[in-house]
Amino acid sequence: MQFTALVKNDEHRQIRDSVQSICDQFTDKYWSELDSKHEFPYEFCEAIAAGGWLGIAMPEEFGGSGYGVTEAAIMMQTIGSSAGYFAACSAVHINIFGLHSIVKHGSAIQKEKWLPSIISGKLRACFGVTEPDAGLDTSKIKTRAIKKKDHYLISGQKIWTSTAQQANKIVLLTRTKPIEECIKPTDGLTLFFTDIKNPSISITEIPKMGRHSVNSNQVFIDQLMVTEEDRIGQEGDGFRYILDSLNPERILNAAEIIGMGRRALYKASTYANEREVFGRQIGKNQSIQHPLAECWSELYAAELMTMHAAELYDSNQPCGAEANAAKYLAADAGFHSCDRAIRTHGGMGYASEYHVERYFREMMACQLAPISREMILNYIAERKLHLPKSY
Ligand SMILES: Cc1cc2nc3c(=O)[nH]c(=O)nc-3n(C[C@H](O)[C@H](O)[C@H](O)COP(=O)(O)OP(=O)(O)OC[C@H]3O[C@@H](n4cnc5c(N)ncnc54)[C@H](O)[C@@H]3O)c2cc1C
Repeated sequence: MQFTALVKNDEHRQIRDSVQSICDQFTDKYWSELDSKHEFPYEFCEAIAAGGWLGIAMPEEFGGSGYGVTEAAIMMQTIGSSAGYFAACSAVHINIFGLHSIVKHGSAIQKEKWLPSIISGKLRACFGVTEPDAGLDTSKIKTRAIKKKDHYLISGQKIWTSTAQQANKIVLLTRTKPIEECIKPTDGLTLFFTDIKNPSISITEIPKMGRHSVNSNQVFIDQLMVTEEDRIGQEGDGFRYILDSLNPERILNAAEIIGMGRRALYKASTYANEREVFGRQIGKNQSIQHPLAECWSELYAAELMTMHAAELYDSNQPCGAEANAAKYLAADAGFHSCDRAIRTHGGMGYASEYHVERYFREMMACQLAPISREMILNYIAERKLHLPKSY
């Protein structure tokens, strides 16, 4: 069964095959051991960085490959379809497009200082946006950055910050102007890219359902001194900068999930062909094969929407609804595939030996983050169907 990403030309095929050959060195056994020991996949990250892949969508003048989101999606889908699953994607995800705000709004000095090290993997970044009391309503974040003479003093709390234990830098969204003094609630937010290893920052891991090799954390910030050199762009425009990278983020996330869904489907159909009960392959039963055929169709449709959104983005056309719809379709298709993979394996689907239970635990996160399906539907209802804002 073909479970690799759709490609349209030789260059794309080369990206897919090269990334796949790196991923193939890291087996299900490797990833499930890391998952059970809660250990970070350093070797995998080093292999991806050594191949130059962290710079796939970074400008060439800083050592990147200068490709668009289409090529980055092929890369991330390939990683998602590997044994590393969501953990492998999450271990490198931020470096791929999460630092787009620096590329687009950083100063020449900042780009020179940071981008080459991000591309080489020397700088590992995490993303500090979500807060416990704000949730999806980002404008309500409480982390405050107070301007002093030539620096800011930052205090507050972030939650769910993935890879904060390994990162040396954090993309930190803060409020610099009280919300009640702003014209729009999303005004007055300011973005920083600063060192996370600092005595004013403490990090606590959140025990969670899966993706144990890639930690998510609570980050407590108490009177952190940050100089103006670490501020990205203009004070007060941070939310706009984050918005700029949301569409590529949705597209890459969708691509990852499609890869993951395909791998679950591959495992399910392999098992359905091998397992015999009542003297025949279980795959001969339509109650086994039809749901798998449905998953194949759903994943294919999600992939077409994802690549369409990527093409729109890369040709500078609006793609908000398409990128959101891609994430929505992928998350559901991926979830159905994991669910079906477990059911197809029967009791063995619940055992660690076949890995589909690990896939399922990791896939669940894609229903919730980085954007929930409910918020995507809100967006599409409002923007495409012109229905009233419901919240
Ligand atoms: C594994 C994992 C890794 C993560 N990594 C990071 C990271 O690295 N950095 C980071 O900043 N964040 C990270 N997050 C956080 C993630 O982005 C948030 O969990 C997500 O944005 C949802 O926010 P919330 O959990 O606060 O949900 P809430 O905002 O509390 O929402 C709870 C539920 O209510 C629904 N809901 C809320 N409002 C509405 C509405 N108006 N209409 C309909 N439904 C609504 C939501 O859809 C959701 O189902 C991560 C989360 C997970 C699970």
